[in-house]
Amino acid sequence: MTHLEKAVELQKNGYHCSQAIVGAFANELGYNLKDCFKISTCFGGGMREGGTCGCITASFMVLGMAFGFYDPQDKELELYGNKKAEEFLALFKERMAGDITCKAILGQDISKPEGLAVIRKEGLMLKLCPRAMRVCIAIVEEMIADFQTRENDLLRDGVENIKNTDNLTTIIKHADKRRKFTGNVTKLLDSTDKKVAFIQFDIKRFKIINDLYGEKFGDQVLFFVSEKLKTICDENQFFMNLRADVFVIVTAYDTDHELDTLITRLEESFEEFKEVKLQLSFGVYTVEDRGMEIRQMEDRAAMARKAAKDEVATNRLFYQEQFKELLYTRKFIEENMNAAITEKQFKMYLQPKYSISQNKIVGAEALVRWIHPQRGMVYPDEFIPIFEENGFIRKVDYYIWEEACRFIKKCTDLGLRDCPVSVNVSRQHLKDMEFMRVLVAYIRNNKIEKSLLELEITETANDEKISRVAEQLKKDGFTLLMDDFGSGYSSLNVLLETPFDVLKLDKKFMDNMMASEKGKLILEYVVAMAKKLELGLLAEGVETKEQVELLSKIGCDKVQGYYYAKPMPQEEFFEMLLAERGVESAKKA
Ligand code: C2E
Ligand code: CA
Ligand code: CA
Repeated sequence: MTHLEKAVELQKNGYHCSQAIVGAFANELGYNLKDCFKISTCFGGGMREGGTCGCITASFMVLGMAFGFYDPQDKELELYGNKKAEEFLALFKERMAGDITCKAILGQDISKPEGLAVIRKEGLMLKLCPRAMRVCIAIVEEMIADFQTRENDLLRDGVENIKNTDNLTTIIKHADKRRKFTGNVTKLLDSTDKKVAFIQFDIKRFKIINDLYGEKFGDQVLFFVSEKLKTICDENQFFMNLRADVFVIVTAYDTDHELDTLITRLEESFEEFKEVKLQLSFGVYTVEDRGMEIRQMEDRAAMARKAAKDEVATNRLFYQEQFKELLYTRKFIEENMNAAITEKQFKMYLQPKYSISQNKIVGAEALVRWIHPQRGMVYPDEFIPIFEENGFIRKVDYYIWEEACRFIKKCTDLGLRDCPVSVNVSRQHLKDMEFMRVLVAYIRNNKIEKSLLELEITETANDEKISRVAEQLKKDGFTLLMDDFGSGYSSLNVLLETPFDVLKLDKKFMDNMMASEKGKLILEYVVAMAKKLELGLLAEGVETKEQVELLSKIGCDKVQGYYYAKPMPQEEFFEMLLAERGVESAKKA
């Protein structure tokens, strides 16, 4: 059956022209008909817009993109890709002898009810549209053939004189593999009685492998994985290297045990390459609705894989509905973060630090809040990890540091010099020295004392570089607080290597310790140790009276936590501080 015959048949079955044309190419595209209809329909609206018939142009666009010879978005394809629309329209006009609008093709105005009535009554679409469809399909077929010839030439000769050849070749090769893969998966989904699963995996810290051993070595690793996958996969299993170190395998299977065995086999096969240990993270999506688009199935496996990366206990996770939420949140955050800075949606909250014995405020920690005009309050636990990944944390921290300096200035102006404010310094900053210049500039511009701006740095496994930066900060006269002490990576070496002034006992650490007598003893000795080392101490996340009493008993006097106060807008904290210090309102103004 030719493309035209197939298209005419689809049209007779009630599908409109663009569905019929795109559907006619379903086999080569490796799509099922339903997917073809969906993508063609999105452009159908163009029909009423005049100019060339929307069904025709839409079909050209969809097919051009799907076969790879047209892509309005992709600058890489500009070489010969994006001139294709003009070429198509010119050819269409010529071969249709100028009859390019719906009105010209059908002899009736489709945008008017009376025109539509005639078209329906006389079945004009079935009679007249195939002429336009024939021309459209013929041009598309020529373009595909032309594109494939070029593609083959390109692959064979390497065509040095075309700019971006490497890029272009890679793109074309990749598109080709993707088409084959999608085709195979579609067939598998359509034909097998077994269950089907998408297993996506990547190599943990692949970037670091690239950095340490060089990109060539990284490429060799990926080649090794691809080659090995060829031997692992049988005729009901298909794999694809989606990008960089991300691979997906689609497999038919009967029991979960079978699936588990396959993953274990993958894990063992890729344990090591040239004596470099490789660790994989696996995300699995087991297909429930076979009518779902393949991309969607892939997305779900990808979500599971990303979640698996953050897991400590396991390196394989199955897709769960709530991953979708996480993905939406991430998307929201990334799309809105820049506006959040320019529109000043980030706010500095301050949480008081108290002395138990004096029962008064002895400082505050600056914590960021994102108040989004529609979504409301967004908490740092949601966005800070994302900002740390994409580097945006620098901007947010600078903003909060500046706010903190202004706040300190405001207090100093009223004679309040006994309320230092600590700010969080993300580890991102410690990679270079830029942040120090920024800090110094804020301090100088606001004419505040350096000792009133304290820096919180999260403790982690010992890191020489960070120790050096901390050393420098210390030399420059900054006060350093070790945040989250005891939270997991804790190494007593850090105490030796890094010159901190204050340990902030982590909430979870404290909660754990307080749960048993043995724990309480450990806590007591930690407090004693800090004293001996002449380190300051502050307990975070203190929520109950019992905690306060115990801390006071073992000699930890400074606390921060809901028991005393939650983080609050800086204005509120300011009022609270003034009231406590007995500063009159007149002075405030
Ligand atoms: P963190 O630095 O350990 O901050 C303490 C967190 O514990 C804060 O959460 C605070 O609201 C919360 N907290 C304080 N007292 C209690 C309590 O009694 N009970 C409980 N359950 N929680 C308490 P928050 O503000 O949501 O911040 C979470 C984390 O986000 C912070 O942990 C910090 O790592 C990061 N973060 C917050 N603001 C900034 C910022 O401006 N810059 C950077 N780089 N990180 C920030
Ligand atoms: Ca902190
Ligand atoms: Ca903390």
